[in-house]
Amino acid sequence: MRQSQLFGKTVREAPKDEISQNAILLSRAGYIDKLMAGVYSYLPLGLKVLSKIKNIVRSEMDAIGGQEILMPALHPREVWDETKRWESLKEIMFQFKGRGGKDLGLGATHEEIVVDIARKRISSYRDLPVYLYQIQDKFRNEPRAKSGLLRGREFSMKDLYSFNQNQHDLEVFYSQATQAYGKIFARCGLQAIVTEASGGAFTSDYSHEFQVATPYGEDEIVVCPAGDFVQNTEICQLKTGDRCPHCGQAVKLVQSIEVGNIFKLGAKYSQDMGLTFADENGKKQEVIMGCYGIGPSRVMGAVVEVYHDDKGIIWPASLAPYQAHLLLLDQQKSALTDQVYQELTQAGCEVLYDDRQESAGIKLNDADLIGLPVKLIIGAKTGEHELEYQLRDNSDQGKLKFDRVADFLNQLYKK
Ligand SMILES: [Zn+2]
Repeated sequence: MRQSQLFGKTVREAPKDEISQNAILLSRAGYIDKLMAGVYSYLPLGLKVLSKIKNIVRSEMDAIGGQEILMPALHPREVWDETKRWESLKEIMFQFKGRGGKDLGLGATHEEIVVDIARKRISSYRDLPVYLYQIQDKFRNEPRAKSGLLRGREFSMKDLYSFNQNQHDLEVFYSQATQAYGKIFARCGLQAIVTEASGGAFTSDYSHEFQVATPYGEDEIVVCPAGDFVQNTEICQLKTGDRCPHCGQAVKLVQSIEVGNIFKLGAKYSQDMGLTFADENGKKQEVIMGCYGIGPSRVMGAVVEVYHDDKGIIWPASLAPYQAHLLLLDQQKSALTDQVYQELTQAGCEVLYDDRQESAGIKLNDADLIGLPVKLIIGAKTGEHELEYQLRDNSDQGKLKFDRVADFLNQLYKK
């Protein structure tokens, strides 16, 4: 991609109405555009990152037997009345009148909708297990939407729903899903800590959250250094220095961002909505459910909170919108740099090529702000048939012959 053609310019000043680093950096670097508090558009660079996160999520959900569907965002009241959640969620759910005074809502979560689909199609033990997921925008009327992509009123969510014959099968799948979540976050460059938490407003009595420790997090968790105890402070009274209830070591309080949440729903929704199956003896049983959420847009925000410095974003290779940022710093060499760009593109490398008529200082600053993992620089001082490379995380720099660059990028991205 030639940067002279790229839609979305970088901006020097931080937006006045943003306080979180993810919103400030993603806006300045041209990844997102704010429409109102908690509601953002994704510009070309931002959509590439979001798509990479969604594809990682998809591949790990498919690997544990998930089947992707897409449910509507617009819901009639009736299906929500079956679980009495039209009333109980009215603070957080966008609810309004459609034509003829009909009550409608925007999906804040999708248990009711997926159970309605399932009860029309599941009737026998032979129909189970089933694992359905979607990646879709959710809508929540958040009172505080000041954290950029970390807390949206409209935000991307992957929600998977498991349908099993009994509690034991649910437990087995729940632990598979926990491991799949660990893989997803690791592939996104995040170290997520599995944390015990309350069921929250949406679903069950108990749940597990996946928390990423960062000083900018909105959540607070209690962590035992031995790794045998982690709880959200919502359900835990312990303070830094108190004894771990399992091993007696001193625990500490850590600021964190929740990036995923999984729940054992049991038979709650099946009871309320009549989702049953005939077991092997022909006896009617309730389907046992779980639900498993990850917010791809929130993961994007969390990655920026964890990976940035005072110059800009530092993307992990797996999520960067392009593999390399090719910088032409000497206009005398523009024909040569065009050729390098074409060769790399033909070799299958994703390259953002800064071909603009701007000063070297502006180009280098923009490259740091945008945060691709490696800069490939062709300037007045670079020798013949070679360029200079610099890794964005400052871990390496040096010179490369042109015919070595594609291999170098492939190696870098294999790690
Ligand atoms: Zn402990």
